[in-house]
Amino acid sequence: MHQHIPPADSADVIVVGAGPAGSSTAFHLAQAGLDVLLLEKSQFPREKVCGDGLTPRAVKQLVGMGIPLSAEDGWFPNKGLRIIGGGVRLELDWPDLAAYPGYGLMRSRRGFDEALARAASKAGARLLEGVSVTGPVLDEATGRMTGVTARAGADGDGPPRTYQARVVVAADGNSSRLSVAMGLRKRDDRPLGVAVRTYYQTPRHDDDYLESWLDLWDGDRLLPGYGWIFGMGDGTSNVGLGLLNTSAAFGHTDYHALLRKWLKGMPTEWGYTEENRTQPIRGAALPMGFNRTPHYHQGLLLVGDAGGMVNPFNGEGIAYAMESGEILARTIVQALARSRRAETERVLAGYPHALSQAYGGYYALGRTFVKLIGKPTLMRIATKHSMGRPALMRFALKLLANLTDPRGDASDRLVNGLSRLAPNPE
Ligand SMILES: Cc1cc2nc3c(=O)[nH]c(=O)nc-3n(C[C@H](O)[C@H](O)[C@H](O)COP(=O)(O)OP(=O)(O)OC[C@H]3O[C@@H](n4cnc5c(N)ncnc54)[C@H](O)[C@@H]3O)c2cc1C
Repeated sequence: MHQHIPPADSADVIVVGAGPAGSSTAFHLAQAGLDVLLLEKSQFPREKVCGDGLTPRAVKQLVGMGIPLSAEDGWFPNKGLRIIGGGVRLELDWPDLAAYPGYGLMRSRRGFDEALARAASKAGARLLEGVSVTGPVLDEATGRMTGVTARAGADGDGPPRTYQARVVVAADGNSSRLSVAMGLRKRDDRPLGVAVRTYYQTPRHDDDYLESWLDLWDGDRLLPGYGWIFGMGDGTSNVGLGLLNTSAAFGHTDYHALLRKWLKGMPTEWGYTEENRTQPIRGAALPMGFNRTPHYHQGLLLVGDAGGMVNPFNGEGIAYAMESGEILARTIVQALARSRRAETERVLAGYPHALSQAYGGYYALGRTFVKLIGKPTLMRIATKHSMGRPALMRFALKLLANLTDPRGDASDRLVNGLSRLAPNPE
């Protein structure tokens, strides 16, 4: 059947997906005066399967975007991390640094993602909700992406449209259909996590430490990953667990059953029981350590989960989605200001290098870390011998949460030095 396709809408930049990566990219681009179309398949507010935990890295990005962070605005602050494992319970405050604020936050992704998308729109980005991008539009001669095709509605069953732009950003999350359509698939040699989470009504809802449990057992096998209990401050806790693909158990684990089994061992007064569960248990993948590359290909730039930017050490993805959005926006602003096309290309081609400068060494270290903890015996030895040593654990927190000052104390310099030394192929 012949369908009428309305005339294409165009912009300097199209950003596909208004999660933290897309909204941050669009925000920084719009602030620099570029015309940005931010296309999001769902309508806000919408849910996203997540632990809802924000470390000081994420807070720094939020501060940089001028987002109000008070309790009245729905944010619940935390002081640090409580680690439980090997029979020890250790409370570690977020490190005291010049480079990052000393606190983290909790906020449900329902509210969080909408706040970011609205900030992007207030900065001048044109946010279109309920627009599903269905594929790339290519220049026939060069194969370069010049826009996207889309349909109205989250299921993509509405009328078709096309949008055109000088560059396109894939901020469409872990599956990134747009990247796949351009031949960019996930890399098998990079880590991947899987995590599940739900919410419970609980007296522990106002816990101001993020709690992580290292002892996740599959029979007599200690699993590489952790369980978390994060107080939302609204009567509920976000409770979940995540595992890495470096263990033999990966792919054979019943995550729902593992979560239930783990929670069965908790004191009943905490309330993590079926009657108090307020949401279904839902899961999703965590693409880590640059598990989709290259980050620039034929007019398409990858940001956040689309580019596999979750931290392999701790499964944190929001801060990296937002930071990579800022790095990308800076690159695009410079690229589009060049008058010759070849120069624009040259600047865009610098984006993978800028990412590599920011995270390459640290992620390479993370890839080694996940291989090591994939071995149950090593994982057991590490937990047993480090938990009783608070100084070592303070160092571990800096390493695992990537929180150091460039010229900080000895432990900062050790983390920075290790990241610099790690072999770092782009
Ligand atoms: C169970 C779990 C717990 C986690 N816990 C934490 C945590 O506590 N802290 C943390 O920092 N990170 C956590 N993460 C990781 C974090 O959720 C991700 O790293 C983060 O959401 C990445 O942001 P993003 O913007 O790249 O992608 P997303 O948040 O996935 O956003 C992608 C957006 O693109 C839209 N989209 C997709 N396809 C299309 C299309 N075709 N057209 C238009 N729009 C489209 C989607 O609707 C969505 O809005 C967790 C992940 C999981 C699975």
